[in-house]
Formats: sequence, C-alpha cells, structure tokens
Amino acid sequence: MEQILKELPKKAKDKHKEHKKFFAKLKKKTPKHLDAIMSDLHEAEFKKTDCLTCGNCCKTTSPIFTEKDIFRIAKHFRIKQQRFIETYLQVDEDNFYVLKTAPCSFLDQNDNSCTIYDVRPKACQEYPHTNRRNFHKISEITLVNITICPAAFNIVEAMQKAIDVGVNPKGKKYKFNGRE
Ligand code: SF4
Ligand code: SF4
Repeated sequence: MEQILKELPKKAKDKHKEHKKFFAKLKKKTPKHLDAIMSDLHEAEFKKTDCLTCGNCCKTTSPIFTEKDIFRIAKHFRIKQQRFIETYLQVDEDNFYVLKTAPCSFLDQNDNSCTIYDVRPKACQEYPHTNRRNFHKISEITLVNITICPAAFNIVEAMQKAIDVGVNPKGKKYKFNGRE
C-alpha cells in the first residue's frame, strides 16, 4: 500500500485530462442505472481494498464537521461543544469547520483505525462518496479524491471500462452487468 500511495498523485495527474473528459461526457450521457452501477463498482473495490492498510484520507485531508457531528462527538467525549471546537477545529475558507491538524487527531496511527468510529463525522462515513446517488454530479470533488484515495482512483478507472460514454454512431446502449 505504501508504494501505491506514493505513486497515486502522479497516476492521478497523468490521468486527469482523461478523467475530466469522461465525467464531462458522463454528465451528458448519464446511464439510467448509474446509481446501481456505482454501488456495484464501490462494493467490488472495497472487497479488495482494506482501509486499515491505507488511512490516507485520515492522514492527509480533513472531513467537514457539521453541527450534528460536533454535537454527537462532543457528547461522546462528555465535553461542551465549544470546547470541542476550540480544541480540534478551525474554520476553512468556505466557512466549514475542519480539523486543525493532519493527520486527524482521532486516527490511531498504529493501525489506521478511527478512535471515534461510531460517532465519526458523516463526511467520514461517506468518503470517498463513490456509492452516492447521482455520482456524476460530484465529479469535481471526485477528481480531487482520486489523488488521495487509491480505491476512488480504481473505481473511476473501472467506471471508464463499464460505462460507454463515447460517441457511438450506431447508438449503442450503455450496458453494465446486463443492465441498460
Ligand atoms: S474522524 Fe476518524 S474517520 Fe474521520 S478523518 Fe478522523 S480518524 Fe478518519
Ligand atoms: S477511503 Fe480511500 S483513502 Fe481512505 S483509507 Fe480507504 S482507501 Fe484509503
């Protein structure tokens, strides 16, 4: 995994134009069953990729902490929300609460586990968002995520094989696992 993470930024950079073009076409020719396709690709990838061998998202980026996240996590620590904010969070340029430090203060760096797993922010629960609905609508954030998350990179690569968004003069339909 160490080598994969080392090579990922360059791999993502080399593929950036191709991926950007793919997402632009996907927006215009979105398969009817994109949500189901993404769910299958996401599941297949995370059967192969164990986040505990990686932890790159927790080491290098911050999730957004919503009010609900702050309420839940502060309650977990039995401290006041304001104290939680002052201790761990800062406001970013988009006015969101994010972590003050990277790696995340709640990451156990011995085994890449999350020490607040059951109450972790919603953004952490959903990262890298590859099984969310209307995946084609979050292409900009995905193009960033694939520079950080090897699983997201693989999923985008698999999407390109699974979904035909190319110009097809014969009007071929999109097929994935028998779905159109
Ligand atoms: S809260 Fe947990 S899952 Fe979220 S970034 Fe920190 S260690 Fe990772
Ligand atoms: S979600 Fe991606 S970056 Fe985060 S630990 Fe799993 S594989 Fe690594």
